[in-house]
Amino acid sequence: ANDKTVIDNTELHAALKKYFGFAEFKGLQQDVVASILQGKNTFAIMPTGGGKSLCYQLPALMQEGTAIVVSPLIALMKNQVDAIRGISDQNGIAHVLNSSLTKTEVRQVKQDIVDGVTKLLYVAPESLTKEDYVEFLQSVKLSFIAVDEAHCISEWGHDFRPEYRNLRAIVNRLDDGIPVIALTATATPKVQEDIIKNLGITGANTFKASFNRPNLFYEVRPKTANVDSDIIRFVKKNAGKSGIIYCLSRKRVEELAQVLQVNGVSAVPYHAGFDAKTRSKYQDMFLMEDVDVVVATIAFGMGIDKPDVRFVIHHDIPKSIESYYQETGRAGRDDGEGHCLAFYSYKDIEKLEKFMSNKPVAEQEIGNALLQEVVAYAETSMSRRKFMLHYFGEEFDEVNGDGADMDDNARNPKEKVEAKDDVVKVLQVVQGTNEKFKSKEVVRTLIGKINALISSHKADEKPVFGIGSDKDKGHWMALIRQMLVAGLIKKEIEQYGILHVTDKGREFLASPQSFMMTKDHTYTDGDGDTIVK
Ligand code: ADP
Repeated sequence: ANDKTVIDNTELHAALKKYFGFAEFKGLQQDVVASILQGKNTFAIMPTGGGKSLCYQLPALMQEGTAIVVSPLIALMKNQVDAIRGISDQNGIAHVLNSSLTKTEVRQVKQDIVDGVTKLLYVAPESLTKEDYVEFLQSVKLSFIAVDEAHCISEWGHDFRPEYRNLRAIVNRLDDGIPVIALTATATPKVQEDIIKNLGITGANTFKASFNRPNLFYEVRPKTANVDSDIIRFVKKNAGKSGIIYCLSRKRVEELAQVLQVNGVSAVPYHAGFDAKTRSKYQDMFLMEDVDVVVATIAFGMGIDKPDVRFVIHHDIPKSIESYYQETGRAGRDDGEGHCLAFYSYKDIEKLEKFMSNKPVAEQEIGNALLQEVVAYAETSMSRRKFMLHYFGEEFDEVNGDGADMDDNARNPKEKVEAKDDVVKVLQVVQGTNEKFKSKEVVRTLIGKINALISSHKADEKPVFGIGSDKDKGHWMALIRQMLVAGLIKKEIEQYGILHVTDKGREFLASPQSFMMTKDHTYTDGDGDTIVK
């Protein structure tokens, strides 16, 4: 490892200028770079577009030895290698090591590393399981190992890759004490915990950028049988602006694109079922602004960097808040307007649950826990931004925070009512049932409705059973969500959503204070029924 502990600011800026031509670091970049140069294990969490790659590229270029960069996608690695080669007259400065190389090519890569020419060596995690490669890497000078897209190590992330789980064992076999750098755009505390645990980097210097996107406006509307006309009306009102409309199925993508075309909206469909040529044609039409709208499955968007996408509509609700954040994040990259509109019906949640029903049980439980968060986001009447950022482990001031008025709930606040006594009841039930229940059973206990789980825990014999029977289920669900965000209770996500009382909750019980709550929106299901909002 590196012993250099004092990092000279001028030197850093000179290197930034020399290699990348930038005058200033972006966000937390400088702190991350300095931490790596000090040889410390480092964990960088930044939203997409935050400038993660530079965080490890710069220290790799500045240091002796080769940095190993683990990345899950070959295409991504190739782009990065090309970009790095562009700033140097030495082709060998960056290499990809993978199974598609010929013997001669592998020999060249190894020679460049031995000669000290290669500063960045990109590898897929499975390549690192090849004994030959590991033995070779043991024999050369390494600067650090960077694990890009580190959330792939966690089943709670959106892109679990089992091979990532072997990384710690491989790192242990490499250079003694080689620093590990983890990078991700996944902000949930659970995924971060998994990364730290599985990479064995407890105590790493951690840098987390804010995930707030103050220029994005968040809105949820009930999804009825008229959703297509609702979308057409929205798009026509925003005529001439670029937008993405996400649908769950390829069939729906094609239908909706057609409906839009028939109604005079210039739109193209996009999904993985089209051949590569057709896909790139439609993608280019959107990027070159030959069409305003692309109707797409989630296959669209990875690596799309169109700065002036003005709206992202979800015709179908996504399977996690994480996905929703990533997909809506494609709007307003230029810091201009970005309207994020999701259509929600509980029926779609049931559909997503059904999709998961043939998956392994553990995966289903994770999937369901993530879906419940989506339901809570959609139905909440509180600041959507605050809800989302809380999910990412971030505090947000819904009154004075940046972007505080940028969602439907903030613009049209529902009336608030005093709920001090009800908060006490919820806390009493959670404690009185020994912190064994998820929200569903807590609510049933409150209103005094038995089910198998409740009777198996004999909760119906406890004094708290039925203490909230004067209010309905919707009231208690809403209150529980607001208490979660207020930090009076917390969810043990590891246990798939079991509720616990926090220290703050215990303080509240000891001396109850005013707690103003709003009723959640109630969405009855699709098919044109009356919807109360
Ligand atoms: P991420 O991997 O976090 O999504 P990238 O590393 O792709 O982000 O960087 C996003 C963009 O920001 C790139 O176009 C990159 O060139 C640019 N960028 C990174 N650092 C700086 C900087 N210090 N100054 C200006 N632009 C930067």
